[in-house]
Amino acid sequence: MISVEQFLKWIRFAHEKIQQHKNELTELDQAIGDGDHGVNLARGFEAVVQKLDAHEGKDLGALCQEIGMTLIAKVGGASGPLYGTAFVRMATAWKGKQSVTYPEFVQGIEAGANGIQARGKAGLGDKTMLDVWLPLADYLARETETVSWKEVERFVYQQMKSTESMEAKKGRAAFLGARSIGHRDPGAVSSYYLFAALCQTMEM
Ligand code: ADP
Ligand code: MG
Ligand code: MG
Repeated sequence: MISVEQFLKWIRFAHEKIQQHKNELTELDQAIGDGDHGVNLARGFEAVVQKLDAHEGKDLGALCQEIGMTLIAKVGGASGPLYGTAFVRMATAWKGKQSVTYPEFVQGIEAGANGIQARGKAGLGDKTMLDVWLPLADYLARETETVSWKEVERFVYQQMKSTESMEAKKGRAAFLGARSIGHRDPGAVSSYYLFAALCQTMEM
């Protein structure tokens, strides 16, 4: 289903989206956090794409491992280790593979979501990036390779949007309690951009 070339396209699209929406992500984090999410992620993805330029001979596992370690090193904050862990778990799932089938791809996303959960100890509805990752993993697991990526994109958008009415239970936003209601979670929004980039790649 996804080859090294398509995977690289996905990550480059994601990078573009993060750079385009850097200020939006920062403003969202200003509302319910410390206002660095856009800057953090933009810096991390900049470092990631620089590493991708030397991808010759690397398989999906090796690429994900490199992306994960780079995000952990460069993003910082809460989201760096969480995004980093997700990619490191994907690396284990896709170890040594030049391409993966649809079920293998889904296993990687599930492993990533579970990694975020294991590391951050958040649950569904806690108003974090997990509110995008977990439902997406479940959605993909119920589908097959004939899945409509347009529908996936719509689904991920709805999940991201649903964080608006949630009260934050994890991360900095949790300090605000009920005052976090009415704002989208920055990590859920950046995860939406990551997966919107995936959907865009798969539709090509
Ligand atoms: P920091 O809060 O350290 O400044 P960022 O601003 O980069 O880090 O990232 C904030 C995002 O991280 C939140 O919007 C949320 O989605 C995510 N996050 C924070 N804590 C957790 C957690 N325990 N589990 C999952 N996601 C989390
Ligand atoms: Mg922050
Ligand atoms: Mg911070």
